[in-house]
Amino acid sequence: MPRPAYNTWLRGTVGQSLDADRLVVAAPSAFIAEHLNARMRGIACSAVHAVVGEERDVAFVVGNAPAPQPAAPTPEAAPIAAPPNRSPLNPRYTFEAFVEGTSNRLAFAAAQAVADAPGDAYNPLVVYGAVGLGKTHLLHAIGHHLHARGRAFRYVTSERLVSDYTAAVREGRRRIDEFNLAYRSLDALLIDDIQFLAGKQGTQETFFHIFNALHDNARQIVVTSDWPPSALRLLDDRLRSRLEWGLVTDVSMPDPETRAAILQRIANRSPVPVPPEIITALAQRNTTCIRQLEGSLGRVVAAAQWTGIPLTLAAIEKELATYAPAPEPMSATEVIARVSQAFGLPAAALTGKRRDRKIARARHIAACLLAERLSLNPVEIGELLGNRDRATIAYAIRQGEQALAADPEAQRVATNITQS
Ligand code: ADP
Ligand code: MG
Repeated sequence: MPRPAYNTWLRGTVGQSLDADRLVVAAPSAFIAEHLNARMRGIACSAVHAVVGEERDVAFVVGNAPAPQPAAPTPEAAPIAAPPNRSPLNPRYTFEAFVEGTSNRLAFAAAQAVADAPGDAYNPLVVYGAVGLGKTHLLHAIGHHLHARGRAFRYVTSERLVSDYTAAVREGRRRIDEFNLAYRSLDALLIDDIQFLAGKQGTQETFFHIFNALHDNARQIVVTSDWPPSALRLLDDRLRSRLEWGLVTDVSMPDPETRAAILQRIANRSPVPVPPEIITALAQRNTTCIRQLEGSLGRVVAAAQWTGIPLTLAAIEKELATYAPAPEPMSATEVIARVSQAFGLPAAALTGKRRDRKIARARHIAACLLAERLSLNPVEIGELLGNRDRATIAYAIRQGEQALAADPEAQRVATNITQS
């Protein structure tokens, strides 16, 4: 939808209710509600379908201006097993809808095992892998399974955990106790994207205590991450070793057949028929992320539905071609070379043994830039910077972060390096 159309008609709308039949949306005036009902119902239904995974009707009604966003619900205000229509779980992300292949077999089996017998099988279960490979899907599937069996669980992203915890801290001791209690009374805690806890010392501390409390009482903990715990950037050492107590397993890029099977499931939900050769062609493509494939298929399907462009291989090639590959990121060696240059040092200084002030500072900044801009983990950075160990690099990254936050000279160096 063009932005002006969105701004005119949809911007002031707000979702009122969603049940098994329909989504009710409040619009700021009768005029707008009428227009939306007459002209945009189809597109809204299709969007709801895409998000919810099932057909729902959409009705626009005249309502009040959007209510101010309620404050984030506190753990005790938010029921632990939320009512189905407010569940944070995506209804599409079930075990049944998960396509098994060699790339995810162990993770899939382990997820089912912990969902069947939380706390018994593998505790904690850690699933790691690159973006878009089904980690969140598996975590939600565990949640659905537990929900169906009436088990108390909580699904949170680690960002959410951080914001809940910070809110509790703001409100004082009593709220922190409630926060801890709410988490410790669970049968299972499902934490998505734990890598975002990196650098959040307070929350890591709390998570560490919650972890121990749950684990000591044989409650299940499941964690997803973009790196294995051994390489998680800046994660507290005790926390890292706890995460390795149970089963650590990865998901990797599925082979073309598995990709085709995943895409076929999406095609099955499509309102327009998707020719099999499109599935095959998409599955053959070399992308690193299933979400990207889903996105391409979704856009072509939407174009076919709304503009009448026929769903052909040529159409999809054109669509994919508009997404130019991202520019090559700067190489690690280049970052190191540029940092040393900016400090007037030979590149070998950063990998060498000397530790005088200037060299150490340059090394800290290089470590920090390698972590932040190239997403390298401390182990990899250690190898690049003269085989230094993980703890040394974790320390260097923290020092680098501080320098970049406080020192204008360091900031100047960093900007020069990453801008060119
Ligand atoms: P991650 O959390 O690893 O970044 P997601 O779980 O969000 O990835 O998956 C991205 C999309 O790909 C989701 O729509 C998900 O349903 C789909 N997907 C990924 N792997 C599979 C799979 N093995 N079977 C079915 N769908 C999958
Ligand atoms: Mg995810």
